[in-house]
Amino acid sequence: MIALTNHDYRQTWYNSGLMEKKYHIWTEGCQMNVADSQRVGSSLEHLGYTFTDKAEEADVIVLNTCVVRQSAEDKAIGRLHSLRPLKDQNPDLVINLMGCLVGVRGAEKLREKLPFVDVFSPPSDPGPLVSFLTQGEVRSLEDAETTRRFLMMDEDLILPAHERGQLVSAHVPVVYGCSHACTFCIIPFRRGVERSRPVGDIVGEVRSLVAQGVKEITLLGQIVDRYGTDVPDGPNLAGLLRVVHQVEGLERIRFLTSHPSYFDEDLMEAVAELPKVMPHIEVPIQAGDDTVLENMKRGYTQDDYRRLVEKIRKVIPDCSIATDIIVGFPGETEEQFAQTHNILAELRLDVAHLARYSSREGTVATRRMLDDVPEEEKMRRFRALEDLQEQIVGEINARYLGQTVEVLFEEKVKGRWKGRTPTNKLVFLEAGDDLRGKIIPVTITWTGPWSMQARLVQQLTPIRL
Ligand code: SF4
Repeated sequence: MIALTNHDYRQTWYNSGLMEKKYHIWTEGCQMNVADSQRVGSSLEHLGYTFTDKAEEADVIVLNTCVVRQSAEDKAIGRLHSLRPLKDQNPDLVINLMGCLVGVRGAEKLREKLPFVDVFSPPSDPGPLVSFLTQGEVRSLEDAETTRRFLMMDEDLILPAHERGQLVSAHVPVVYGCSHACTFCIIPFRRGVERSRPVGDIVGEVRSLVAQGVKEITLLGQIVDRYGTDVPDGPNLAGLLRVVHQVEGLERIRFLTSHPSYFDEDLMEAVAELPKVMPHIEVPIQAGDDTVLENMKRGYTQDDYRRLVEKIRKVIPDCSIATDIIVGFPGETEEQFAQTHNILAELRLDVAHLARYSSREGTVATRRMLDDVPEEEKMRRFRALEDLQEQIVGEINARYLGQTVEVLFEEKVKGRWKGRTPTNKLVFLEAGDDLRGKIIPVTITWTGPWSMQARLVQQLTPIRL
């Protein structure tokens, strides 16, 4: 028997005329979904499809969905129904519904409700779509399976073609799912239990991304600090950072999202000692009141969080810290909200991602608690934190004025280059030179709560040909 290489398998597809076929991906939600969509795009390009940003031109349309809030779910359903006329006009069009709307527990109900959808894929899994598209195209079922496996295992083409050489900062999932089950959260129901990816796969993917022009990698997990806890004898996140740090050509490493109960000293020390790991931590508090935290089943107290922030600041000097907060959780009183307001004022964190509690079907909070904080009160609390945070961040950022910082530039937006400091502050700069993917020292000339402006410290030396 003659062994076929990946190249041979790809050639089979190219020869079958699939090269002219196009795919379109619509992505909603978190960075995990963005990374998943890149992998789906890559898998489709292995099959000979090319990307189009116009759904009406596509032969395959992927909708990668989010359900973390009702509004996100409504948006996904709306988008899906807007595709129906395209399917009616072209019955060969393949529609793939993917992500948290599908979840990991089977799609029977959705199949009944949405008969015009051809393929349902769980989060982070391009497999069902690849299998669907390869059915009947290769010689036998065995060949189809082998092809599918090659496509899934092959790490030599991660980014879709239109992002290669363009994307400076990419996300790499390292642990899928979550086994924590906070009472408000739907993620564990939709993404399944925690599963860490093998180190070799992660490093292979990082190397491949770097070879395609990526300079910064963000390692992703719902609780990224729990990386490796499900793999006996495997490294933890600190160990993984040390391994990824050795990838040549990689300039910056970030990771998110941390959990206050699992962000340990070993990890802090790794961040402090590894120069490529950026001093920016995303660690949600969610609420500042111990009873609300208990009702959320977060597993820590306000004081635990305070001590964690103190420790991070001691071990990683000049570290920026981002948090998430939900206001209006069931039963949250005015006094309990005041605790959240107070701790945010006290800790003076760099970023606060704020959300109003939204009941999600199937969660413990929805089954057992009354969503009793009126919407207008949720909004009032949200605005109070928003105003507070705007003032705090404005003051923190003002300290950058006149400072020289290194910025990794990613893209040009409305004529200005956009980049980030090591602490993840957004910086804009006007320059004629091509700064994409470059780390350059700049002087900060203006600061605001949400961004900064800068000028080059010195003129860039033109490249001599
Ligand atoms: S840690 Fe809690 S909030 Fe985060 S994904 Fe898991 S269950 Fe959801």
